Amino acid sequence: MRKEIRYRQELVHFGKLLHEHGYVAATNGNLSVRLDGQTLLVTPTSVSKGMTRLQDLIVVDMGGRILAGRGSVTSEIAMHLLIYRMRSDVNAIVHAHPPVATGYAAAGIPLNPALVCEAVIGLRGVPLAPYATPGTADLADALRPLVPEHEAILMANHGMVTYGEDLLRAYLLRRRKLRVDFDGALEQGQGIRKSR
Ligand SMILES: [Zn+2]
Repeated sequence: MRKEIRYRQELVHFGKLLHEHGYVAATNGNLSVRLDGQTLLVTPTSVSKGMTRLQDLIVVDMGGRILAGRGSVTSEIAMHLLIYRMRSDVNAIVHAHPPVATGYAAAGIPLNPALVCEAVIGLRGVPLAPYATPGTADLADALRPLVPEHEAILMANHGMVTYGEDLLRAYLLRRRKLRVDFDGALEQGQGIRKSR
C-alpha cells in the first residue's frame, strides 16, 4: 500500500511537470506505472495533468479493466498495455504532445541517426510510427514493431511516448529528447537553408 501511495505521488508530480513545461495542453497526455505483475496505475481521461489528484488515479488490470478509481481510464490505455506486455523491463510510461517533438511528428520526420548524434548514442534514434487514430487498436498496431527496440517513439500527427524502468527515467528521457529535438530542429533548418 505504501508503494502505491508513492507511485500515486510520483504520477501526480510528473503530470504537473509535464503541464508546467507545456508538454501537454488541456487534458491531453497520460502517464502510468506498473504496480505489480497484474496491475497498473494510470491517469484518468479528461483531467488536466496539472490538476490530477492522488485520488483521481485509476488501477486497472492487464486487460485494461478498472479495479479501483472513480473516473474513466485514459483513452490511450491500449498503447500503455501494449508496451507493458511487450517489455517486461518497463515499469513506467509517459505520453505527451510536446510542441517541438509533435512538430516533427506532424511533419513526418523521425529523429534518425543522420539528424542528431545524441539521438543515436543515447536513444538509438527516435522512430516515427505511422499515423493511427489515438485511442484505437490501430495505434497499438502502428507502435508494435517499434516497441522492442526503442524507449522513445514519435507518433505521426500526434505526439510522443517514452518509457523506462521507472517514471523518473521515462520523464527524463522525454526532457533529454526535447533538448535533442531542439538541436535537431536547428540542424534541420540549416540543412534546408544549405540546400537552397
Ligand atoms: Zn495523445
